[in-house]
Amino acid sequence: MAEFLQNLGWQQFLNNVGWQDFFDVLLLTFIFYRVLMLIKGTRTIPMLIGFFLILAVYLLSRLLELEATGLLLDNLASSLVLVLVILFQSDIRNALAQFGLITFLTGSNQVTKDVIDEALQGAVTMARDRVGALIVFEREVGLRNIIEKSTSLDSLTSKELLLSIFHPTSPLHDGAVIIDRKGRLVAARCLLPISTSSKISPILGTRHRAAIGITEETDAVVLVVSEERSEISLSYRGSLVRGTQGKDIRRLLFEWLGVKRQDDHKASKWFKRWTLGKLSQKTEDAFTSESITKIQLPPEKVEVTEEDEDEEKSAAATV
Ligand code: ATP
Ligand code: MG
Repeated sequence: MAEFLQNLGWQQFLNNVGWQDFFDVLLLTFIFYRVLMLIKGTRTIPMLIGFFLILAVYLLSRLLELEATGLLLDNLASSLVLVLVILFQSDIRNALAQFGLITFLTGSNQVTKDVIDEALQGAVTMARDRVGALIVFEREVGLRNIIEKSTSLDSLTSKELLLSIFHPTSPLHDGAVIIDRKGRLVAARCLLPISTSSKISPILGTRHRAAIGITEETDAVVLVVSEERSEISLSYRGSLVRGTQGKDIRRLLFEWLGVKRQDDHKASKWFKRWTLGKLSQKTEDAFTSESITKIQLPPEKVEVTEEDEDEEKSAAATV
């Protein structure tokens, strides 16, 4: 066997390969995989195609000695790095966040299950009362630039506080609130960037577009309550999961905010039932009731559904 390997040159190859080489290949594979997953389904792909097309034209112009085109593209190349950083700034920020670098540099805390439940209880009540709301959960990408232009607060997150803020007579009701990584409500009246995506259903107004806008640019998770439709939706990574169909909104919120539910484990579910009793169970049931919080798994793209079109037609008919 050893002789056979020697004949193939394998022995020599194995002698020259150290653990660093295996580590090198593994690290590179991981980086390529993460980069591909990051840009999959985003506007980065068409941009990269454009970039490679320009590169191809440049190489062709060199090959065919086309002086004028070559000169133009030469000059463009000198500022290309700057152009790429500006064009991809939000993607770069997201990528750093996904690699955990921002957390590593700034330190991180996580919202707790109680904070999510307070926000959800508030959302359920507001949806029932047809009060609109926009609740942003900050994750790894900081939202300081938005917080700075808003009304600063620094409070524990509670259902009552959310109901007071979003009550139509409150001076703070317009705009969004932000819950930071520690679970504290740090800002109200926040103006979020509005998504310009043409794929968003036309029946959704600026509140929902603002929710999608901020999740396109950052890794935040946004809870939206529609005053028009009594509906709770969730936005994450540029997609909007609308209420009244499909999956459990609470489960998705826990998943996207990286919080483990107590009831993920049978033992703690048993413990919870016996310690917190029926009151807690009722709250859980309210969150998973068909009427408000059953929602669809995140669609790849936000599309107009048949239901949306029907709603739109009936809205148009009543105008
Ligand atoms: P709803 O279903 O509740 O009617 P919608 O998606 O139809 O919501 P609008 O009816 O246009 O949206 O909601 C307007 C409200 O949305 C504003 O009063 C404001 O509170 C909020 N809003 C609009 N744009 C922004 C923004 N850029 N940032 C934060 N909040 C915004
Ligand atoms: Mg509206």
